[in-house]
Amino acid sequence: ESMQIKTASKQYPVLIGKQAINELPDFITHELNQLNKILIITDEKVAELHLQTVKKALIKTGKPVLHYVVPEGEHAKTFEVFYECQSYCLSQQLNRKSLIIALGGGAVGDLAGFVAATFMRGIPFIQVPTTLLAHDSAVGGKVAINHPLGKNMIGAFHQPEAVIYDLEFLQTLPLQELRSGFAEVIKHSLIADKEFYRWLKSNIVDLNNITDEQFLTMITKGIGIKASIVEEDEKEMGIRAFLNFGHTLGHAVEGSMGYGNFTHGESILIGMVYALKLSGREQGLDFKLDEFINWVSSLGYQTTIPLQLEKETLLNLMKTDKKSINEGATFVLLKQLGSPLLMDIADSVLIEEMIEMK
Ligand code: NAD
Ligand code: ZN
Repeated sequence: ESMQIKTASKQYPVLIGKQAINELPDFITHELNQLNKILIITDEKVAELHLQTVKKALIKTGKPVLHYVVPEGEHAKTFEVFYECQSYCLSQQLNRKSLIIALGGGAVGDLAGFVAATFMRGIPFIQVPTTLLAHDSAVGGKVAINHPLGKNMIGAFHQPEAVIYDLEFLQTLPLQELRSGFAEVIKHSLIADKEFYRWLKSNIVDLNNITDEQFLTMITKGIGIKASIVEEDEKEMGIRAFLNFGHTLGHAVEGSMGYGNFTHGESILIGMVYALKLSGREQGLDFKLDEFINWVSSLGYQTTIPLQLEKETLLNLMKTDKKSINEGATFVLLKQLGSPLLMDIADSVLIEEMIEMK
């Protein structure tokens, strides 16, 4: 499966499939032939599992291939690791004719993309996602590291040259990481495609038994939805905000549970339940929330706010979420399935609905 992403700043292909990695050397040979060096940035876990496969595929390019291994997860997205990557690039004499390959999940993609965006004012990079969540993060060009005062606060818009999504890599993904990524798939269906939502709900009943065909469908559709939004609004001036559906409370839950204790997707799933409830109340959304909750519970998601979290704390976190502009908090709600909108919700309503959730 292949598609083209067209943004104002760049057009690039997304190739999805089993053994898609074999397309990588041809793409480099045809599109980036002037390259002098290739640097793969990956994390410890992915290096162990899949680095050799990628290195082997790259032999065909005839280019020197280096690799740099960073810590897993959010530990990759620090100033220290960013600095070490830049030092490595300089010491290995990479330059504007060098390519960075981000091999890993969203964390590696965000870090490696930001290294590419800033090294010598920007060099090309290719996303090779290895998680389901990365169907979301690998497309769209947002790259970032974290600051102690806020996640993803130091970043850039830097579109990749290509996204090569080899479904084989997903075979080694732990269940909890699948669950994290699948929440973003659900999100894409809810904000943009009612039929896709129905398809997911009737076909995905066990995250341990997703077929290649099903992965292909959900990733292709999910990326298609993300791409169509990003193509219209690359720099997040308007509709790109709809991608934050479920993320206002989700980020608050994720942050206050401590990153790593609750995955991103598990947190935003709770945020989506909340946003769906608010949508019913404020927009008259016609939606069978009970059925939704039964379905996602059977997939292993928690659908209520963890008891130890204080509602006041969550409220304050929601209000400082970078997406809110006015009083109260700005939410992405649904008028109907597939029809999102932005709405400011008063504090009193936000608290009431949080109490309702458990
Ligand atoms: P991740 O990169 O931390 O990967 C999750 C875990 O899975 C890691 O421990 C990793 O080592 C492991 N892993 C990766 N691939 C594997 C494989 N094939 N087999 C076994 N283990 C594997 O995180 P993620 O969940 O993919 O992404 C989360 C990150 O993405 C967050 O930092 C978030 O901010 C970012 N994000 C960015 C965007 C964007 O638009 N840039 C969008 C959404 C999320
Ligand atoms: Zn997300």
